[in-house]
Amino acid sequence: MVWIPICYYFDTTVRHSLGLDWGDRGYWKVVAPHEVAHQWWGHTVGFASGRDQWMSEGFADMSASLYISMIEKNPKKFTEFWNDERELLLERNAQGFRAIDAGPLTMGYRASNSRTGFDVTRRLIYPKGAYILHMMRMMMWDRKTGDQNFKAAMQDFVKTYSGKAATTEDFKAMMEKHMTPEMDLEGNHRLDWFFNEYVYGTALPTYKFDSSFDQDANGDVVFGFKVTQSGVDDKFRMLVPIYLELADGQTVNLGRARLIGNTTVDQKVPLKGLKDMPKRALVNYNDDVLASN
Ligand SMILES: [Zn+2]
Repeated sequence: MVWIPICYYFDTTVRHSLGLDWGDRGYWKVVAPHEVAHQWWGHTVGFASGRDQWMSEGFADMSASLYISMIEKNPKKFTEFWNDERELLLERNAQGFRAIDAGPLTMGYRASNSRTGFDVTRRLIYPKGAYILHMMRMMMWDRKTGDQNFKAAMQDFVKTYSGKAATTEDFKAMMEKHMTPEMDLEGNHRLDWFFNEYVYGTALPTYKFDSSFDQDANGDVVFGFKVTQSGVDDKFRMLVPIYLELADGQTVNLGRARLIGNTTVDQKVPLKGLKDMPKRALVNYNDDVLASN
């Protein structure tokens, strides 16, 4: 059974008069896949308390992004979806708060009140919960095996907690079981760094990116890049993927820069065997990291 909210059938004017404006972005564009995804997130795997509800709403929103990329197959809509989600988090509401700053998403509906605005939780747990799962997917993605790691992790999560209520810590333990060696940024086989930043914290990094292409004596392309991470504390760690748009128009993931604190990584990478100059280099091409624009 799939629940579709009655307000979905209202037009934007009626939604506006009811104060449901957060919604002509994100959720309203994906109501059907979002609600279908609750068959897994919320129904098959429950949430233990209001502190864990973000997994139900966030994972349903992230699942809608998969629907967009696999069924609608329009790469623009996928980018648009993540831009909408980020906008909801970074835009000030009528009370002057950005949802991303109001508190960690584990506060759930308690973060909404007359001071922060009653829309703050809605603006927080859906898009940020979606981003958290999307970031896991992007970090687990592998050039050879694609989404295999991520799929195994999520199938294990559903199998283990089928018919039960999962906590945020259960989810964290499952991600730690399936994390790649590259994600082990603290060398302890844990994801404390990521969860403290994005799940239990309100971190929001900013990235600045410059790049250049040269050719070495053999005619191979030499890629130079400079990526700066700012607006974070000294402990903030992140894997930041760098993409190349090749001469043939294909965009490929070149690898991930490992950044700790407010820092700049400046490197030259010889791309052996690549003779055609890439068109450009991009950071965060798939909205891989939730960051300010
Ligand atoms: Zn929902």
